[in-house]
Amino acid sequence: MNKELYSPLIFELSREGRSGYSLPEYHYSDKPFELPAQFRRGDKPDLPQVDEPTVVRHYTNSSGNNFGVDSGFYPLGSCTMKYNPKVNEAMVGAANVADLHPAQPYDTVQGALRIYRTLEKALSEIGGMAEFTLNPFAGAHGEYTGLMVIRAYHQSRADEARKRVLVPDSAHGTNPASAAMAGFEIVEIKSLADGTVDVEDLKSKLDETVAALMMTNPNTMGMFEKNIPEIAAAVHAAGALMYYDGANLNPMLGVARPGDMGFDVMHINLHKTFSTPHGGGGPGAGPVGVRAGLEKFLPNPRVVESADGSLRVEDGEFAFGRVSAWLGNFTVLVKALAYILTMGPKYLAEVGPLSTLNANYIMNSLNDLYLQPIAGPCKHEFVFDGLKDKSGGVTTLNVAKALLDYGFHAPTIYFPLLFHESLMIEPTETESRQTLDAFIDVMRKIAEEAKSDPDKIKGAPYTTPISHPDEDEAALTPLLTYRDLKK
Ligand SMILES: *Cc1c(COP(=O)(O)O)cnc(C)c1O
Repeated sequence: MNKELYSPLIFELSREGRSGYSLPEYHYSDKPFELPAQFRRGDKPDLPQVDEPTVVRHYTNSSGNNFGVDSGFYPLGSCTMKYNPKVNEAMVGAANVADLHPAQPYDTVQGALRIYRTLEKALSEIGGMAEFTLNPFAGAHGEYTGLMVIRAYHQSRADEARKRVLVPDSAHGTNPASAAMAGFEIVEIKSLADGTVDVEDLKSKLDETVAALMMTNPNTMGMFEKNIPEIAAAVHAAGALMYYDGANLNPMLGVARPGDMGFDVMHINLHKTFSTPHGGGGPGAGPVGVRAGLEKFLPNPRVVESADGSLRVEDGEFAFGRVSAWLGNFTVLVKALAYILTMGPKYLAEVGPLSTLNANYIMNSLNDLYLQPIAGPCKHEFVFDGLKDKSGGVTTLNVAKALLDYGFHAPTIYFPLLFHESLMIEPTETESRQTLDAFIDVMRKIAEEAKSDPDKIKGAPYTTPISHPDEDEAALTPLLTYRDLKK
C-alpha cells in the first residue's frame, strides 16, 4: 500500500455523535408515526457518523480514484469502452423521460413507447433482422433470451432431440454459461492458428442433436470469420440455427449485417456499441433480434402498433416467457436511440471503418516490440502475446500495470486463453490520432525499459494507492466492507 496516496475510509473519519443532516419537524399529528415492531431492526446500523463537508470531500476525492473513459484512454479489448456523448445523458435527464413510471397507463406514455418501437426498428435495420425485443438487461441476458427463442423454435416443430449448442473455444465466457442456463449441453469447437473457427471440426460435430452454433464475428481475436457463408450453410443443412453474439458489432456498423451473413438470432450490447457508459456491472441492455419466422417466440411483453397508429403493450401467445419485469432498461434504450439519431446513417457507417483503422494503426506501430501471433490486418481489436523479447522476465501483467502510471487504463489481459501472455487492445473510433500516438509512445517506452531496466517495470505502478495486491487473495477473499477490513 502506498501510504502517501491512501485516503482514509469514511468509517475511519467517523466520530461518535457527529452528524451532517437535519430533518424537518414532524407536525402532522400529535403522535409520531410508529413503524410496526416486526419491521424494525433490533440493533443500530453501523453507519459512519460524519459532518456534511466530510461527506462531500470523501465522495469528491474517492471519485478521483476511479478511472473511466471520461478520465483517459481505455483500450479494453472485447469491451468497446468508447466515449459516450453527453447529449445522450441530457435526453434521459429530461423530465418527460426521467419522471416516467413503468406502471403508468399506456395512453399516457405513447412517446416512450414510440422511442421503444423506433429503436426496435432501427436495430432491425442495422442487424438485418425482421424484429427485435429490447427487454434483456445485458449481453449475457440477451444470449440467454436468444437461446430460449431457439429452444422454443425447435420445440414448436416437436424437434426434441436438439439439446446441444456448439461454441468456439475463442468465445466470450458468457456464451457457454448462457447456453447452460438455457438448458443446453455445450460442445466446444476448435480454432485454427489464425484464430478463426476450424470448419472441419465444426462439421464433424453437426448432427440432429445440435440446436445452434453461437458465433462472434469479428471473433474475440479481432478476426473476421471469412468462412461464414460455408459455416451458415452447413449449420442450416443440419437443421440447427445460427446465433450471433453481437457484443462486437462496432466494426460491422455500416459494413456488414449479421442477418445478411446467415444468422437467425442475435443480440446487441447497447452499452458497448451504442454508447451507454458501462463497466463495473451495469447498466446495460442486450436487445435480441430474430429473422422472419421467429418473431412470435420473442419474450413478453411486446410493444404493438394499433391500426390507428397508437401503441399498446401486450403478451404474445407463442412467446417463450418473460425475461424482465417491465420493458427493459429504458434509460439505456433512450441513450442508444439518441446516439443512433445524432450519428445518422452517414456517420454510423464510419464507426466500423474508423475503429478498424485505429486498431490496425496501433497494432502496426507496436508489432516490432510486441508479439503479434496472428498475421495480417485485424478488425476493431487485436491480441499481442506479450513482449517479443521476454528475456527481462517482464510479463503482460507488468506491462498492464506500468501503463497506469501514464494515465492509461490497462488493456484486457490473459484473455483470450489461446495465448499465454494475451494483451488485447481495442482503441475504438472515438480516439484522436494524438491519443493513439501518446499510447503508442508509452507502450514503446515500456517495451524498451523491459530490456534496459526490467525491475523498474516489474515494480510499477508507483502512482496508485495500491500497486501489487495478492491476486489470488483479492479474487477469492475480497474485503468488501469496513467490517471485513477490521477482522
Ligand atoms: C461483453 C461481451 C459479452 C457479455 O455482455 P454483458 O453485457 O457483459 O453480459 C458477450 N460476448 C462478448 C463477445 C462480449 O464482448
